[in-house]
Amino acid sequence: MGRTDEQLAFMRAAGLLVAGALATVADAVADGMTTGALDSLAESYIRDNGGVPSFPGVPGYRHTLCTSVNEEIVHGIPGSRVLRDGDLLSVDCGAIVSGWHGDAAISVFVGGDDAARPEDLRLSRVTEESLWAGIAAMRVGGRLYAVGEAIEESIVAAGKADGRDYGIVEDYVGHAIGQEMHLDPQIPNYAVRGKGPILASGFTGALEPMVTLGDARNRVLDDGWTVVTLDGSRAAHWEHTVVVRDAGLCVLTAVDGGAARLAELGAPFAPVTG
Ligand code: MG
Ligand code: MG
Repeated sequence: MGRTDEQLAFMRAAGLLVAGALATVADAVADGMTTGALDSLAESYIRDNGGVPSFPGVPGYRHTLCTSVNEEIVHGIPGSRVLRDGDLLSVDCGAIVSGWHGDAAISVFVGGDDAARPEDLRLSRVTEESLWAGIAAMRVGGRLYAVGEAIEESIVAAGKADGRDYGIVEDYVGHAIGQEMHLDPQIPNYAVRGKGPILASGFTGALEPMVTLGDARNRVLDDGWTVVTLDGSRAAHWEHTVVVRDAGLCVLTAVDGGAARLAELGAPFAPVTG
């Protein structure tokens, strides 16, 4: 059940709102700001541009963003936490346009890359590169679980080059996306046994590797949401919403549709106009 061009145009519009909200947050983040202030900026950006934040559609959640700091992997709740230079901040955002969803996440550093610990900067790069490796592994007629294999392969290769044993989080996965944010099938961000379903033209999925500097084992805090590493090591999270079609790939939550990165990776790009 691939998406039609009309449906994809709505998903592209939603994806561009998510990209714009995340860019707004990345530009604004600074020492002394709260995660709650960033959440307000993202909500205003999405609403001012004709969309609706999607995370309040998740039962029990009312914010536009998840903001996960340092040892927090994912699902951190925006609020009164004050950010400091060098903090590793993962920001996850979703938006809806005409009933269709976009979902993406970035990891950024408070005070910019210059304020980051070198190992944190590398962690974020390794995570983002693994996401693109997973995206480039998508093709019509291919298998869904090739995505997780490519992501894991990328992280393991980076770990060998860096002399590090990066942790790959397996407790939270990517997902198909459309008129709801979380649809089946799940998309493991790591290698699994089996091949998974065959990718049909028009399939839309959200890929979202989470990688840690230490052990990937984790737990949920008493707030019921925030996922942290057990060993306190820092984590990065990158996510994009992607459509795979016969003509090629489009990264719906990337401003350029993924054209530049896909070209570097030798993967075919086929734009969707929103
Ligand atoms: Mg997300
Ligand atoms: Mg997601």
